[in-house]
Amino acid sequence: MTEVSVGLTTEELRHARGARGFMPDDEGLALTRVAASVDPSLGPLLEVGGYCGKSACYLGPIARRLGTVLFSVDHHRGSEENQVGWEWHESDLVDPETGLMDTLPFFRRTVFDAGLEDTVLAVVGESAAVAGVWSTPLSLLFIDGGHGDQPAADDYEFWTPHVAPGGLLVIHDVFEDPVDGGRPPYERIYLPALESGRFTEVEAYGSLRVLRSRV
Ligand code: SAH
Ligand code: MG
Repeated sequence: MTEVSVGLTTEELRHARGARGFMPDDEGLALTRVAASVDPSLGPLLEVGGYCGKSACYLGPIARRLGTVLFSVDHHRGSEENQVGWEWHESDLVDPETGLMDTLPFFRRTVFDAGLEDTVLAVVGESAAVAGVWSTPLSLLFIDGGHGDQPAADDYEFWTPHVAPGGLLVIHDVFEDPVDGGRPPYERIYLPALESGRFTEVEAYGSLRVLRSRV
């Protein structure tokens, strides 16, 4: 296995911390540590849910050091909870001409500023549609997409088969206790992954859960 430096450089850290999004710094750093442990010969890294590029700023530099790439899948139209009138809406992310959310320009700018355009590759589209035609095994799959029941169930069903044997499935926003947050990542992704017998848990950090695919 390739030995990879876990930490981000001061510059990389500055970009990750400055990027807009939903990744607390301590969890972002845990993500870099976990990513640095994967075997890149198993395949590239892929995240579902790029938003404005924050998690990509934590994962991208590690992907580069591993000699691989990070695919970032997102339709860039926002999740349910990002829409007008919902809790996590940010009005400047709406394209005034279409009236729709469009985080793609923000994502591109973040990735460009971080100097990661050669490593972080955006795939723009509905998660299940991309997963349905995807065929490259993944060394690491990071699921941080739609948090409703259906999107979470779809991400489990369509993406997790692409984790290479020995590869990692990392899930964000997993809350065992409903008091702490929404249920779907826990009920629709984390529990089914464990119950399938295909994955074993290797680490829990904050709301991140790290599972390894059985060989
Ligand atoms: N990882 C990001 C946060 C992701 S927020 C960060 O570090 O800040 C969740 C993202 O998932 C949103 O950008 C939304 O557009 C995307 N998303 C939600 N449902 C989706 C679906 N069905 N297909 C593709 N993208 C989806
Ligand atoms: Mg999240």
